[in-house]
Amino acid sequence: MRRHDRILGITKEGDDTEGGVTPQTGEGIVVAEAVVGPTVDEESAAASVEDVEEAGLYPTAPHSHPTTIAIWCCDPRIQHGVLSFLKEEKELGPGDYLPFVFPGGISPSFDPLAHPKEAWFFLRTLGFYLENFGSIKRIIAINHEDCAKYKALVNLMGRSKMRLLHEHQHIDLKKLAGWLATQLPSLPEIEGYYAAFANEERTKLRFDRIV
Ligand SMILES: [Zn+2]
Repeated sequence: MRRHDRILGITKEGDDTEGGVTPQTGEGIVVAEAVVGPTVDEESAAASVEDVEEAGLYPTAPHSHPTTIAIWCCDPRIQHGVLSFLKEEKELGPGDYLPFVFPGGISPSFDPLAHPKEAWFFLRTLGFYLENFGSIKRIIAINHEDCAKYKALVNLMGRSKMRLLHEHQHIDLKKLAGWLATQLPSLPEIEGYYAAFANEERTKLRFDRIV
């Protein structure tokens, strides 16, 4: 409703022609200064319209300078825990790091000759990040317990049956830096973590520093 109509006490909605609107009668045309401002109902209506508009908009980080590449697996069970770890322990919020979420986490690195396409994609992505973001100072690599993709690759490659899966994952985290150093000219500092379920219900993760 237009401000002018409100002053005149005209409450009919959706009519833009002043001549076509009949003011409320009885007391005549009410010229009431008291209704110049929005009523409580109008205020809440306006707020709800804004809320609806805002509900379709989401924040960005237009001036971000990411310091870190974070690599982890796309297993849905660990996503909340990883993001919380990065935020709470590493003080990395959205825009502070480049997420590289890959099935099996760093699994392409443990035998690049055996699965060269995955290794190629893995390296190309890391190389692209490093070339285009000069602010990168660190790579955080995370393996996790009960990783189905990692387990499948370990079995496929016929790796030692004498080792448990998490032992392979620990070893591979330690080997990661050496392998990347041979492939990428400018390699930042690397931290490696093993994310283990911390309770029987598997509702919490613990991050053990391996590298
Ligand atoms: Zn996984």
